[in-house]
Amino acid sequence: MLDPAADKDGRFDVCVRDGKIAGIGANLESDGAQIIEVKGCIVTPGLIDVHLHLMKGLGAFGVDPDIFGVGSGVTTVVDAGSAGHTLLNVFRNYVTDNAKTRVLNYINLSTLGGVSGPGYSILADPRLIDEAKIAQAVEANRDIIVGIKIMATGGALGAQGLKPLERARKLGDELKIPLLVHIGESWTKGAEPVAVGDVLKYLRAGDIVTHMFTVHPGGLLDGNGKLWPQVRDAKESGVLMDVGHGLHNLNFDVARKVLDQGLHPDGVSTDGHRGNRAGPVYDLPTTMAKLMALGFSLHQVIEMATANAAKLLGRTGEMGTLRVGEPADISVLKLEDREWKAVDSQKGTIPVHQTITPEYAIRGDAIYEPLTIERP
Ligand SMILES: [Zn+2]
Repeated sequence: MLDPAADKDGRFDVCVRDGKIAGIGANLESDGAQIIEVKGCIVTPGLIDVHLHLMKGLGAFGVDPDIFGVGSGVTTVVDAGSAGHTLLNVFRNYVTDNAKTRVLNYINLSTLGGVSGPGYSILADPRLIDEAKIAQAVEANRDIIVGIKIMATGGALGAQGLKPLERARKLGDELKIPLLVHIGESWTKGAEPVAVGDVLKYLRAGDIVTHMFTVHPGGLLDGNGKLWPQVRDAKESGVLMDVGHGLHNLNFDVARKVLDQGLHPDGVSTDGHRGNRAGPVYDLPTTMAKLMALGFSLHQVIEMATANAAKLLGRTGEMGTLRVGEPADISVLKLEDREWKAVDSQKGTIPVHQTITPEYAIRGDAIYEPLTIERP
Protein backbone atom coordinates (compact mmCIF):
# COMPACT_ATOMS: atom_id res chain seq x y z
CA MET A 1 0.00 0.00 0.00
CA LEU A 2 1.15 3.49 -0.76
CA ASP A 3 -0.81 6.33 0.87
CA PRO A 4 1.45 9.39 1.06
CA ALA A 5 -1.05 11.51 3.03
CA ALA A 6 -1.25 8.86 5.76
CA ASP A 7 2.50 8.20 5.59
CA LYS A 8 1.76 4.52 4.81
CA ASP A 9 4.13 2.58 2.59
CA GLY A 10 4.24 -1.17 3.16
CA ARG A 11 2.28 -4.44 3.18
CA PHE A 12 -1.21 -4.05 4.59
CA ASP A 13 -4.61 -5.65 4.27
CA VAL A 14 -7.60 -3.41 3.67
CA CYS A 15 -10.99 -4.58 4.88
CA VAL A 16 -14.13 -3.07 3.32
CA ARG A 17 -17.51 -3.66 4.99
CA ASP A 18 -20.82 -2.15 3.87
CA GLY A 19 -18.94 0.09 1.46
CA LYS A 20 -16.73 1.57 4.15
CA ILE A 21 -13.14 0.92 5.12
CA ALA A 22 -13.43 -1.21 8.25
CA GLY A 23 -9.74 -1.80 8.84
CA ILE A 24 -6.22 -1.27 7.52
CA GLY A 25 -3.45 -3.41 9.01
CA ALA A 26 -1.18 -6.38 8.71
CA ASN A 27 -2.86 -9.82 8.57
CA LEU A 28 -6.47 -8.78 9.15
CA GLU A 29 -8.98 -11.60 9.74
CA SER A 30 -11.09 -12.24 6.63
CA ASP A 31 -14.19 -13.33 8.62
CA GLY A 32 -15.61 -15.00 5.53
CA ALA A 33 -15.31 -11.89 3.40
CA GLN A 34 -14.50 -11.95 -0.31
CA ILE A 35 -10.75 -11.76 -0.71
CA ILE A 36 -9.11 -9.95 -3.63
CA GLU A 37 -5.50 -11.04 -3.82
CA VAL A 38 -3.41 -8.07 -5.00
CA LYS A 39 0.07 -9.28 -4.11
CA GLY A 40 2.65 -7.41 -6.16
CA CYS A 41 0.21 -4.56 -6.83
CA ILE A 42 0.06 -1.14 -5.26
CA VAL A 43 -3.04 -0.22 -3.31
CA THR A 44 -3.53 3.55 -3.18
CA PRO A 45 -6.25 6.01 -2.25
CA GLY A 46 -8.61 6.38 -5.23
CA LEU A 47 -6.76 8.22 -8.00
CA ILE A 48 -8.01 11.68 -8.98
CA ASP A 49 -7.76 13.04 -12.53
CA VAL A 50 -8.32 16.80 -12.23
CA HIS A 51 -8.82 17.84 -15.88
CA LEU A 52 -10.93 16.05 -18.53
CA HIS A 53 -13.85 16.64 -20.93
CA LEU A 54 -16.73 14.46 -19.87
CA MET A 55 -19.97 15.45 -21.65
CA LYS A 56 -20.31 12.42 -23.87
CA GLY A 57 -21.68 13.49 -27.25
CA LEU A 58 -20.67 17.13 -26.90
CA GLY A 59 -18.51 18.08 -29.87
CA ALA A 60 -15.31 16.29 -30.73
CA PHE A 61 -14.21 15.98 -27.10
CA GLY A 62 -16.95 14.70 -24.82
CA VAL A 63 -16.20 11.25 -23.45
CA ASP A 64 -18.02 8.94 -21.03
CA PRO A 65 -16.55 9.68 -17.58
CA ASP A 66 -16.24 5.99 -16.70
CA ILE A 67 -13.76 5.43 -19.54
CA PHE A 68 -11.07 7.63 -17.98
CA GLY A 69 -12.60 7.00 -14.54
CA VAL A 70 -13.24 3.56 -13.05
CA GLY A 71 -12.45 2.01 -16.44
CA SER A 72 -8.91 3.31 -15.97
CA GLY A 73 -8.45 2.58 -12.26
CA VAL A 74 -9.43 6.16 -11.35
CA THR A 75 -12.22 6.92 -8.86
CA THR A 76 -12.61 10.70 -9.29
CA VAL A 77 -12.64 12.67 -12.55
CA VAL A 78 -13.15 16.41 -13.02
CA ASP A 79 -14.64 18.06 -16.07
CA ALA A 80 -12.86 21.23 -17.12
CA GLY A 81 -15.41 23.59 -18.58
CA SER A 82 -17.65 21.52 -20.86
CA ALA A 83 -20.66 23.22 -19.30
CA GLY A 84 -21.41 26.89 -18.94
CA HIS A 85 -24.19 27.84 -16.51
CA THR A 86 -26.98 26.91 -18.95
CA LEU A 87 -25.74 23.32 -19.29
CA LEU A 88 -24.86 22.70 -15.70
CA ASN A 89 -28.10 20.93 -14.81
CA VAL A 90 -27.70 18.72 -17.88
CA PHE A 91 -24.19 17.93 -16.73
CA ARG A 92 -25.39 17.09 -13.25
CA ASN A 93 -28.33 14.94 -14.33
CA TYR A 94 -26.79 13.08 -17.24
CA VAL A 95 -23.08 12.96 -16.41
CA THR A 96 -22.46 13.14 -12.66
CA ASP A 97 -25.61 11.29 -11.59
CA ASN A 98 -25.20 8.49 -14.15
CA ALA A 99 -21.53 7.74 -13.67
CA LYS A 100 -19.94 4.98 -11.64
CA THR A 101 -17.00 7.35 -11.13
CA ARG A 102 -17.24 10.42 -8.87
CA VAL A 103 -17.58 13.34 -11.34
CA LEU A 104 -16.82 16.92 -10.30
CA ASN A 105 -16.96 20.07 -12.39
CA TYR A 106 -15.25 23.32 -13.27
CA ILE A 107 -18.01 25.55 -14.63
CA ASN A 108 -17.00 27.50 -17.73
CA LEU A 109 -16.84 31.29 -17.41
CA SER A 110 -18.39 31.48 -20.88
CA THR A 111 -22.05 30.58 -21.32
CA LEU A 112 -20.97 28.63 -24.41
CA GLY A 113 -18.62 26.32 -22.49
CA GLY A 114 -17.56 23.53 -24.81
CA VAL A 115 -20.57 23.85 -27.10
CA SER A 116 -18.70 25.55 -29.92
CA GLY A 117 -15.37 23.73 -29.69
CA PRO A 118 -12.03 25.12 -28.56
CA GLY A 119 -11.18 27.23 -31.62
CA TYR A 120 -13.96 29.79 -31.10
CA SER A 121 -13.94 33.18 -29.40
CA ILE A 122 -16.13 32.10 -26.50
CA LEU A 123 -15.21 35.08 -24.31
CA ALA A 124 -14.92 37.77 -26.99
CA ASP A 125 -18.50 39.00 -26.54
CA PRO A 126 -19.01 40.50 -23.05
CA ARG A 127 -22.59 39.17 -22.98
CA LEU A 128 -21.21 35.61 -22.90
CA ILE A 129 -20.25 36.04 -19.25
CA ASP A 130 -23.24 36.20 -16.92
CA GLU A 131 -21.98 36.49 -13.36
CA ALA A 132 -25.42 36.31 -11.73
CA LYS A 133 -26.37 33.11 -13.56
CA ILE A 134 -22.99 31.51 -12.88
CA ALA A 135 -23.38 32.36 -9.19
CA GLN A 136 -26.85 30.78 -9.18
CA ALA A 137 -25.55 27.60 -10.80
CA VAL A 138 -22.60 27.40 -8.39
CA GLU A 139 -24.79 27.92 -5.30
CA ALA A 140 -27.16 25.18 -6.43
CA ASN A 141 -24.31 22.74 -7.13
CA ARG A 142 -21.58 23.40 -4.58
CA ASP A 143 -21.26 19.66 -3.97
CA ILE A 144 -19.85 19.09 -7.46
CA ILE A 145 -18.38 22.46 -8.50
CA VAL A 146 -14.71 22.98 -7.69
CA GLY A 147 -13.95 26.16 -9.63
CA ILE A 148 -14.36 28.29 -12.75
CA LYS A 149 -12.67 27.35 -16.04
CA ILE A 150 -11.23 30.09 -18.23
CA MET A 151 -9.66 29.75 -21.68
CA ALA A 152 -6.93 32.39 -21.41
CA THR A 153 -5.98 32.30 -25.08
CA GLY A 154 -5.91 35.10 -27.61
CA GLY A 155 -8.37 33.09 -29.66
CA ALA A 156 -10.94 32.73 -26.87
CA LEU A 157 -10.58 36.24 -25.41
CA GLY A 158 -10.52 38.07 -28.76
CA ALA A 159 -11.13 41.82 -28.57
CA GLN A 160 -12.05 41.56 -24.88
CA GLY A 161 -8.38 41.09 -24.06
CA LEU A 162 -7.85 40.51 -20.35
CA LYS A 163 -11.29 41.79 -19.26
CA PRO A 164 -12.78 38.30 -18.85
CA LEU A 165 -9.93 37.45 -16.46
CA GLU A 166 -10.72 40.55 -14.43
CA ARG A 167 -14.38 39.50 -14.27
CA ALA A 168 -13.44 35.92 -13.39
CA ARG A 169 -11.19 37.14 -10.57
CA LYS A 170 -14.02 39.14 -9.05
CA LEU A 171 -16.49 36.29 -9.41
CA GLY A 172 -14.05 33.75 -7.95
CA ASP A 173 -13.53 36.01 -4.93
CA GLU A 174 -17.26 36.50 -4.42
CA LEU A 175 -18.07 32.80 -4.71
CA LYS A 176 -14.88 31.73 -2.91
CA ILE A 177 -13.92 29.19 -5.56
CA PRO A 178 -10.64 28.97 -7.50
CA LEU A 179 -10.00 29.70 -11.16
CA LEU A 180 -8.66 27.01 -13.50
CA VAL A 181 -6.87 28.72 -16.35
CA HIS A 182 -5.93 27.14 -19.68
CA ILE A 183 -2.69 28.60 -21.02
CA GLY A 184 -1.11 27.98 -24.43
CA GLU A 185 -2.35 29.06 -27.86
CA SER A 186 -2.91 25.52 -29.04
CA TRP A 187 -6.21 25.79 -30.90
CA THR A 188 -6.42 29.14 -32.63
CA LYS A 189 -3.49 29.44 -34.98
CA GLY A 190 -2.66 33.02 -35.84
CA ALA A 191 -4.34 34.53 -32.75
CA GLU A 192 -2.19 36.94 -30.76
CA PRO A 193 -1.11 34.82 -27.78
CA VAL A 194 -1.67 36.11 -24.26
CA ALA A 195 1.55 36.37 -22.21
CA VAL A 196 1.42 34.12 -19.17
CA GLY A 197 2.71 36.99 -17.01
CA ASP A 198 -0.42 39.00 -17.89
CA VAL A 199 -2.67 36.07 -16.99
CA LEU A 200 -0.91 35.46 -13.68
CA LYS A 201 -1.65 39.02 -12.52
CA TYR A 202 -5.23 37.85 -11.97
CA LEU A 203 -4.43 34.63 -10.10
CA ARG A 204 -4.10 34.05 -6.35
CA ALA A 205 -3.16 31.21 -4.01
CA GLY A 206 -5.28 28.17 -4.80
CA ASP A 207 -5.94 29.08 -8.44
CA ILE A 208 -4.66 26.60 -11.01
CA VAL A 209 -2.74 26.99 -14.25
CA THR A 210 -3.25 24.00 -16.54
CA HIS A 211 -0.99 22.90 -19.43
CA MET A 212 2.22 23.80 -17.58
CA PHE A 213 4.33 21.85 -20.11
CA THR A 214 2.77 23.31 -23.27
CA VAL A 215 5.10 24.12 -26.16
CA HIS A 216 2.57 26.55 -27.65
CA PRO A 217 2.89 30.36 -27.41
CA GLY A 218 1.73 31.66 -24.04
CA GLY A 219 3.49 28.92 -22.03
CA LEU A 220 5.67 29.15 -18.92
CA LEU A 221 9.01 29.60 -20.77
CA ASP A 222 10.40 32.72 -22.46
CA GLY A 223 12.20 32.67 -25.82
CA ASN A 224 15.40 31.49 -24.13
CA GLY A 225 13.77 28.55 -22.39
CA LYS A 226 13.77 30.29 -18.99
CA LEU A 227 10.74 30.50 -16.73
CA TRP A 228 9.12 33.92 -16.90
CA PRO A 229 9.88 35.61 -13.56
CA GLN A 230 6.13 36.05 -12.94
CA VAL A 231 5.76 32.26 -13.02
CA ARG A 232 8.15 31.82 -10.11
CA ASP A 233 6.43 34.61 -8.18
CA ALA A 234 3.02 33.04 -8.81
CA LYS A 235 4.18 29.62 -7.66
CA GLU A 236 5.67 31.13 -4.52
CA SER A 237 2.43 32.94 -3.79
CA GLY A 238 0.53 29.63 -3.93
CA VAL A 239 -0.75 29.42 -7.52
CA LEU A 240 -0.92 25.71 -8.42
CA MET A 241 0.38 24.05 -11.59
CA ASP A 242 -1.37 21.20 -13.40
CA VAL A 243 0.00 18.99 -16.19
CA GLY A 244 -3.08 18.78 -18.48
CA HIS A 245 -1.43 16.37 -20.96
CA GLY A 246 -4.03 16.42 -23.74
CA LEU A 247 -3.63 16.26 -27.45
CA HIS A 248 -1.34 19.29 -27.56
CA ASN A 249 0.13 20.19 -24.21
CA LEU A 250 2.65 17.72 -22.82
CA ASN A 251 5.99 18.41 -24.45
CA PHE A 252 8.93 16.50 -22.96
CA ASP A 253 11.53 19.17 -23.92
CA VAL A 254 9.48 21.90 -22.27
CA ALA A 255 8.84 19.64 -19.28
CA ARG A 256 12.55 19.01 -18.77
CA LYS A 257 13.34 22.73 -18.93
CA VAL A 258 10.55 23.62 -16.52
CA LEU A 259 11.48 20.84 -14.09
CA ASP A 260 15.22 21.63 -14.29
CA GLN A 261 14.36 25.13 -13.09
CA GLY A 262 12.68 23.68 -10.05
CA LEU A 263 9.01 24.15 -10.92
CA HIS A 264 7.07 20.97 -10.13
CA PRO A 265 3.45 20.03 -10.86
CA ASP A 266 0.85 20.14 -8.10
CA GLY A 267 -1.58 17.99 -10.04
CA VAL A 268 -1.19 15.36 -12.73
CA SER A 269 -4.05 15.18 -15.22
CA THR A 270 -4.80 13.66 -18.59
CA ASP A 271 -6.96 16.41 -20.13
CA GLY A 272 -8.60 13.24 -21.37
CA HIS A 273 -11.21 13.37 -24.11
CA ARG A 274 -12.57 11.37 -27.04
CA GLY A 275 -9.70 12.44 -29.27
CA ASN A 276 -6.73 11.34 -27.17
CA ARG A 277 -7.79 8.11 -25.43
CA ALA A 278 -6.16 6.00 -28.15
CA GLY A 279 -2.95 8.03 -27.77
CA PRO A 280 -1.03 10.00 -26.91
CA VAL A 281 -2.84 10.12 -23.54
CA TYR A 282 -4.44 6.66 -22.93
CA ASP A 283 -5.21 7.12 -19.20
CA LEU A 284 -4.02 8.65 -15.92
CA PRO A 285 -1.74 5.74 -14.92
CA THR A 286 0.12 6.07 -18.25
CA THR A 287 0.44 9.84 -17.75
CA MET A 288 1.85 9.14 -14.27
CA ALA A 289 4.39 6.71 -15.78
CA LYS A 290 5.47 9.49 -18.18
CA LEU A 291 6.14 11.76 -15.18
CA MET A 292 8.22 8.97 -13.66
CA ALA A 293 10.22 8.88 -16.89
CA LEU A 294 10.79 12.62 -16.39
CA GLY A 295 12.37 11.91 -13.00
CA PHE A 296 9.61 11.68 -10.40
CA SER A 297 9.40 8.73 -8.02
CA LEU A 298 6.42 6.42 -7.70
CA HIS A 299 5.72 7.98 -4.30
CA GLN A 300 5.68 11.46 -5.85
CA VAL A 301 3.33 10.62 -8.73
CA ILE A 302 0.94 8.77 -6.40
CA GLU A 303 0.99 11.76 -4.08
CA MET A 304 0.19 14.09 -7.00
CA ALA A 305 -2.76 11.94 -8.07
CA THR A 306 -4.16 11.51 -4.54
CA ALA A 307 -3.36 13.90 -1.65
CA ASN A 308 -2.18 16.81 -3.83
CA ALA A 309 -5.08 16.47 -6.23
CA ALA A 310 -7.53 16.48 -3.32
CA LYS A 311 -5.90 19.66 -2.03
CA LEU A 312 -6.01 21.25 -5.48
CA LEU A 313 -9.77 20.54 -5.59
CA GLY A 314 -10.28 21.90 -2.07
CA ARG A 315 -11.46 18.43 -1.03
CA THR A 316 -8.81 17.34 1.46
CA GLY A 317 -10.56 15.26 4.09
CA GLU A 318 -13.07 13.99 1.56
CA MET A 319 -10.67 12.09 -0.74
CA GLY A 320 -6.98 11.47 -1.39
CA THR A 321 -6.23 9.21 1.58
CA LEU A 322 -7.53 5.94 3.05
CA ARG A 323 -9.24 6.26 6.42
CA VAL A 324 -11.06 3.74 8.54
CA GLY A 325 -14.75 4.59 8.77
CA GLU A 326 -14.84 6.47 5.46
CA PRO A 327 -16.42 5.16 2.23
CA ALA A 328 -14.08 2.87 0.30
CA ASP A 329 -12.38 4.86 -2.46
CA ILE A 330 -9.41 2.79 -3.59
CA SER A 331 -7.23 2.23 -6.65
CA VAL A 332 -5.13 -0.85 -7.29
CA LEU A 333 -2.25 -0.44 -9.74
CA LYS A 334 0.38 -2.68 -11.21
CA LEU A 335 3.94 -1.41 -11.55
CA GLU A 336 6.04 -3.48 -13.93
CA ASP A 337 9.58 -3.26 -15.26
CA ARG A 338 9.30 -2.98 -19.01
CA GLU A 339 11.13 -0.90 -21.58
CA TRP A 340 8.83 1.27 -23.69
CA LYS A 341 8.85 4.62 -25.40
CA ALA A 342 6.61 7.33 -24.03
CA VAL A 343 5.23 9.68 -26.69
CA ASP A 344 4.40 13.32 -25.96
CA SER A 345 1.86 15.57 -27.69
CA GLN A 346 4.34 16.51 -30.43
CA LYS A 347 5.44 12.90 -31.03
CA GLY A 348 8.66 13.41 -29.05
CA THR A 349 9.73 10.26 -27.21
CA ILE A 350 11.62 9.30 -24.09
CA PRO A 351 12.61 5.83 -22.94
CA VAL A 352 10.67 4.55 -19.95
CA HIS A 353 11.64 1.57 -17.82
CA GLN A 354 8.40 0.98 -15.95
CA THR A 355 4.70 0.85 -16.71
CA ILE A 356 1.80 1.68 -14.41
CA THR A 357 -1.44 -0.06 -15.33
CA PRO A 358 -4.77 -0.17 -13.51
CA GLU A 359 -5.96 -3.39 -11.83
CA TYR A 360 -9.09 -2.27 -9.95
CA ALA A 361 -11.02 0.79 -8.91
CA ILE A 362 -13.16 0.36 -5.79
CA ARG A 363 -15.94 2.73 -4.74
CA GLY A 364 -18.03 1.62 -1.80
CA ASP A 365 -19.10 -1.98 -2.39
CA ALA A 366 -18.44 -1.87 -6.11
CA ILE A 367 -15.28 -3.31 -7.66
CA TYR A 368 -14.46 -2.21 -11.22
CA GLU A 369 -11.97 -3.86 -13.53
CA PRO A 370 -10.29 -1.63 -16.11
CA LEU A 371 -11.39 -1.55 -19.73
CA THR A 372 -8.94 -3.21 -22.03
CA ILE A 373 -7.13 -0.72 -24.18
CA GLU A 374 -4.10 -0.84 -26.38
CA ARG A 375 -1.42 0.90 -24.35
CA PRO A 376 2.05 1.72 -25.70
ZN1 LIG B 1 -8.78 20.48 -21.45
